[in-house]
Amino acid sequence: MPVYHVRLAHSAIGFETREDEILLAAGLRQHLALPFGCQSGTCGSCRVRLVSGRVKYSNASGPKALSDAEIAAGYILMCQTQARSDLTLRLHQPETLEELRPRQWTAQAVAHRALSHDVIGLWVQLPPGESFRFLPGQYVDFLLNDGRRRSFSIASAETPEGILEFHLRVTPGGLFTHSIQDDGLERAPLSFEGPLGAFYLREESTRPALLMAGGTGFGPIQAMLERSFKNGQPRSFHLFWGARARRDLYLDSLVQEWTARHPNFHYTPVLSEPDADWTGERGLVHEALLRAYPTLAGYEVYMAGPPAMVHAGKQAFTAAGLDADHLHYDSFDYAFETWPALEKKPA
Ligand SMILES: Cc1cc2nc3c(=O)[nH]c(=O)nc-3n(C[C@H](O)[C@H](O)[C@H](O)COP(=O)(O)OP(=O)(O)OC[C@H]3O[C@@H](n4cnc5c(N)ncnc54)[C@H](O)[C@@H]3O)c2cc1C
Repeated sequence: MPVYHVRLAHSAIGFETREDEILLAAGLRQHLALPFGCQSGTCGSCRVRLVSGRVKYSNASGPKALSDAEIAAGYILMCQTQARSDLTLRLHQPETLEELRPRQWTAQAVAHRALSHDVIGLWVQLPPGESFRFLPGQYVDFLLNDGRRRSFSIASAETPEGILEFHLRVTPGGLFTHSIQDDGLERAPLSFEGPLGAFYLREESTRPALLMAGGTGFGPIQAMLERSFKNGQPRSFHLFWGARARRDLYLDSLVQEWTARHPNFHYTPVLSEPDADWTGERGLVHEALLRAYPTLAGYEVYMAGPPAMVHAGKQAFTAAGLDADHLHYDSFDYAFETWPALEKKPA
């Protein structure tokens, strides 16, 4: 069985992969901090640019999560491919990756409160003296007792007094988000792994940033914006926040405050099932963004929220001229129950 070498561009790191092995599984087996999410080819979190070499998709449907523009730019999904030669890959994540290597933490839930009829704010405290380094926009996996995981984005830019904030949409029957509503949760120990993911603000970029949130996709975007406001970044930011009705814009007043305080920040809420007296934007949030910015060459786009929104945004924005390298996203897919799925994938 041939074994190939995989080199990560701009890094001294590499790993070996057998021809019958899924690339992501091979990297994780060798303890690399690679980004991934659904492991089924739909979320796109594990996308990387193939700089050199050949890969084969292990399924007939190919890279479902990637837009045509991403495929044309050379992106592949590590959770769906096997090597057919030595490879060089360029990760879509910080070059400080090694410093931000995820690990397991035990923390305590210290507070939770309803932010809306179906969104809970959760505040989690790290053990005293521990310093959790992450990039605003990244997420963690909460580890449930039975070994299952649930991904949630960090909604705070920093950890004041070791506290992390999360915005959880409570889904009926949801294992994790439902347990959080119990009053007994306060001061309960919670284990999580993090920081994870490649959704973070590229602070070196000077491009105007368009931010698109669907529902609790606002959480990681709040973290990014708080960091930029604190650092006094001069670039412009325009947030489009999509929700069903006004009550779902669960921190609308905070965002209104930002618009009053930061001249480089603009905000457009978009409702798909608007209240009768709503005079603002209506319909799908990615369509509202395109009405305001029909041509996206020269912009950078960040989007987080429901998979359908992220999928629609990828296709529409790259078709409107957005360079795939300047499109960053986290798709809030439902948890993949059969963790760790990669080990069970057929060779
Ligand atoms: C990178 C990342 C970041 C995320 N960040 C956040 C965040 O900040 N905030 C947030 O609210 N969510 C976030 N999510 C989504 C969240 O992780 C999932 O919704 C998770 O499954 C919720 O866990 P739960 O235990 O509450 O519900 P689960 O136990 O996973 O199930 C929720 C309910 O949905 C049903 N369900 C399961 N799968 C499907 C499906 N495919 N289609 C329809 N219904 C289904 C289940 O039957 C159940 O009733 C994120 C996801 C990812 C991948």
